[in-house]
Amino acid sequence: MDSVHIIILLALILAVAIVIVSLRSKKPRKPLQYEDPVPEGGSSPLPEPVEPTPAEPASAESPKAEARPEPEVPAPPKASDDERKKRVLRLKQGLTTTRQGFIAKLGRFFKEKRKIDPSVLQELEELLITSDVGVKTTELLLGWLKENTDRIEAAGDVYPMLQVEIEALLHVEIASWDVTRAKPFCIMMVGVNGTGKTTTIGKLASQIKDQGHTVLLAAGDTFRAAAVAQLEIWGKRVGAEVVKGKEGADPSSVIFDAIKKAQNDGIDVVIADTAGRLHTKVPLMEEIKKVRRVMAKAMEGSPHEVLLVLDATTGQNAVAQTRMFKEALDISGLVLTKMDGTAKGGIIIGIVNEEKIPVRFIGIGEKMDDLRVFDAGEFVEAIFEREEEGKEAAA
Ligand code: GDP
Ligand code: GDP
Ligand code: MG
Repeated sequence: MDSVHIIILLALILAVAIVIVSLRSKKPRKPLQYEDPVPEGGSSPLPEPVEPTPAEPASAESPKAEARPEPEVPAPPKASDDERKKRVLRLKQGLTTTRQGFIAKLGRFFKEKRKIDPSVLQELEELLITSDVGVKTTELLLGWLKENTDRIEAAGDVYPMLQVEIEALLHVEIASWDVTRAKPFCIMMVGVNGTGKTTTIGKLASQIKDQGHTVLLAAGDTFRAAAVAQLEIWGKRVGAEVVKGKEGADPSSVIFDAIKKAQNDGIDVVIADTAGRLHTKVPLMEEIKKVRRVMAKAMEGSPHEVLLVLDATTGQNAVAQTRMFKEALDISGLVLTKMDGTAKGGIIIGIVNEEKIPVRFIGIGEKMDDLRVFDAGEFVEAIFEREEEGKEAAA
């Protein structure tokens, strides 16, 4: 009978529609989340492959940064997508060498290899080690890859997955950078000679001034007259007064005076330069510890930030320096300089993973505005973006 057929047909259509609708609404794609790269039982689910959309601002913020009312540095979470894109683009330009070195090799590597087998893992290990990611972090990443080998269909999937892993490794919980939390807010710069302390002080002073605060520089590198002169040039350039002592003066006394002066004059921020000589009779670490002690004496709670400046081009040496300074001081953050001049930007991943010290800033050139607030999400996005995508973004 016709009507029976029609009813059956309608029922069938309805059933098919219901199935389609329920399939679609079922389980929306899980947002990417960091999974422990070396799970105990080896049964942790593989993070789902990243969608080809590169910009995902949600990953760029730490919960702590969000809780603070007014972060001093341009805050990634609040910025519009356009601003973020611009920042990532400029960062990409500064990080060209790293992108074309280590990361490009990684990209090619996962394009070429069809299946993840032991020989592929061996090659990857070499690639990571030579890019200065470090042995421990290489092992961590490889371990994660081995755990998940069965679930990886194409080698090409690994690249975006590695990106997620690396971003997670670069996240260290920290309070947001806020120079208004004390007055004067005292920053102590430490690091080996030539890493870029004085230059970073100049760049940082410029940023802080742009944000409407007054800055005083303390010429704590009294070891060479040239060091004081260099800081004075920066002081003039950015419009910040410099407190200095005589050549060979006790650095702690210069910095003590600077903090007192800032207190008297109502200056917002003090940035203290220090010496970084390694091979002299004066034990550097003792001097540095004394500076710290005297800063605390000049003002309770000071120094509010102790930034260790590392030259990214020195590779594993930077890791050794981190350990050395960490023994003497509580380092609150790292500045990785000369990221523009190295293909070994992978160093940053190893240091953060092994030492658990957050990167606050990265230097991507010698000019005043070549200092960037470090943001793990933006950084990883900038270095991992493939060339094809880069061209699209530039167009
Ligand atoms: P300090 O001895 O630690 O105070 O180091 P300086 O600030 O004097 O810097 C040493 C050299 O590194 C100088 O020639 C700087 O211009 C250069 N430098 C510092 N930071 C960067 C950077 O981010 N990129 C590049 N290319 N050079 C930098
Ligand atoms: P110590 O050598 O570890 O005992 O450190 P000090 O307490 O002697 O401080 C080292 C330097 O910081 C001194 O030589 C002073 O220049 C300066 N300083 C420390 N405390 C004071 C202080 O109370 N008043 C002044 N004017 N300077 C101080
Ligand atoms: Mg210097």
